[in-house]
Amino acid sequence: MESYDVIVIGSGPGGYVAAIRCAQLGLKTACVEKDPNLGGTCLNVGCIPSKALLHSTETYYNLLKQGPDLGIDAKSTFNFPQMMKRKETIVKGFNQGIAGLLQKNKITHIQGLASFTSPTTISVSGKEYTARHFIIATGSEPTPLPFLPFNEKTILSSTGALSLPQAPKKMLVIGAGIIGVELGSVYSRLGTEVKFIEFLDRICPTLDPTLSKALQKILENQGLTFQLSSKVTAANGKSITYTNPDGKEATESADVILVSIGRRPYTQDLALDKAQIQTDEKGRIPINSRLQTSQSHIYAIGDVVDGPMLAHKASEEGVLAAEIISGLHPHLEYMTIPSVVYTHPEVAAVGLTEPEAKALNLPLKIGQFPFKANSRARATNEDEGFIKLIAHAEKNTILGVHILGAHAGELIAEAALAIQKRATTLDIIHTSHAHPTLSEALKEAALDAEKRAIHK
Ligand SMILES: Cc1cc2nc3c(=O)[nH]c(=O)nc-3n(C[C@H](O)[C@H](O)[C@H](O)COP(=O)(O)OP(=O)(O)OC[C@H]3O[C@@H](n4cnc5c(N)ncnc54)[C@H](O)[C@@H]3O)c2cc1C
Repeated sequence: MESYDVIVIGSGPGGYVAAIRCAQLGLKTACVEKDPNLGGTCLNVGCIPSKALLHSTETYYNLLKQGPDLGIDAKSTFNFPQMMKRKETIVKGFNQGIAGLLQKNKITHIQGLASFTSPTTISVSGKEYTARHFIIATGSEPTPLPFLPFNEKTILSSTGALSLPQAPKKMLVIGAGIIGVELGSVYSRLGTEVKFIEFLDRICPTLDPTLSKALQKILENQGLTFQLSSKVTAANGKSITYTNPDGKEATESADVILVSIGRRPYTQDLALDKAQIQTDEKGRIPINSRLQTSQSHIYAIGDVVDGPMLAHKASEEGVLAAEIISGLHPHLEYMTIPSVVYTHPEVAAVGLTEPEAKALNLPLKIGQFPFKANSRARATNEDEGFIKLIAHAEKNTILGVHILGAHAGELIAEAALAIQKRATTLDIIHTSHAHPTLSEALKEAALDAEKRAIHK
């Protein structure tokens, strides 16, 4: 039987990063992947293809809306098949890139479905493998509505929405979370009528409420519509019934329905019972603070465990698991994991929201700075939105930063570093920020928290 120090199950951003870190630390490592392509959800049907489609449609939309103002009088038509082709080329390139990384690091790539046969052995395509340690990184899958199963033609999961043959005339999106608003934006920019039905009273509920409301307004101005506080209760073909806030039933139909109500952990093929591991009520694999399951030599990371379902969270845990297995003492500061919504403008957040900070009874001071007052944002026609910075009123430490604005996903890195390093408003204020840049808005938000903003 082939034997390894570590076998990683799954090659998403959790699994392949864990495998590389294990190999770097001198462990004999294998990575098992059931799909022919490496990279998991993130690369094949998640982060990367969605961002490719968002980029094509954003460029098109901006040219249409802002071209004349920018002095560009281009006649632009949209080539839908080319957008999809470009997306596929990008994904394929990275599929090969990950295969190359595994090879370079001398990691054995085993293709096939891994199932435990005992706590120390797995079977893949009828062959058994053993290891001293396992890292389960099997990810997640879209959650269906029981009465509206995916057919990926008219009833779509995010996977189907990334590969439509053309932009539909009308799209209903059930669930206005991050994935829903990103994919809704893609098609809305191409002229699709996009309507969201959302159970909660606001969109992207994990965001600070101020930003969630502001984002909704901006998206409404772009033509997306939101039916909030409404529960979808039944479906018939391409028609759905929902209960609206005043308790009345309403029906709505569309060419396609995107069901985007969340994702659930994927463990169904693992035969976890043979490893003597049980899942919790949400199907997740329970772990301790060292990422160990109830079997101390079996670790679990990424979407299959508790926590935000984000690629970089999975990767950080992958590194953590590898280092723990190697006897190191790493630490992951979960509070510094940022999250980004890739709409236009983007939203990015790290640390505590205002309600979360208030719930902890922390004394707060809050600075806010609008991009309208930032010269770079004005020069590039990207002046929607603002930065909200939450700091401890006595210690001045940064507790949370929430950015609604162009390139927010890039700007948030400085805030994540600030929180990681326990930096204060003064640390940001005393750091020179190049002019003219969007990053000056973060410094101004810190100045505003100290009641000394220059441009507000
Ligand atoms: C449309 C969309 C957009 C997204 N955008 C972003 C974004 O912009 N930023 C972000 O941070 N996150 C984003 N995400 C979330 C991100 O994709 C996930 O958080 C991330 O992929 C989780 O990584 P993972 O390694 O835990 O699992 P996955 O990426 O799901 O990988 C798990 C892998 O395990 C394999 N596997 C499963 N079971 C077995 C088995 N028994 N044997 C062998 N292999 C197995 C699967 O085939 C898969 O390849 C997005 C998700 C979607 C759907």
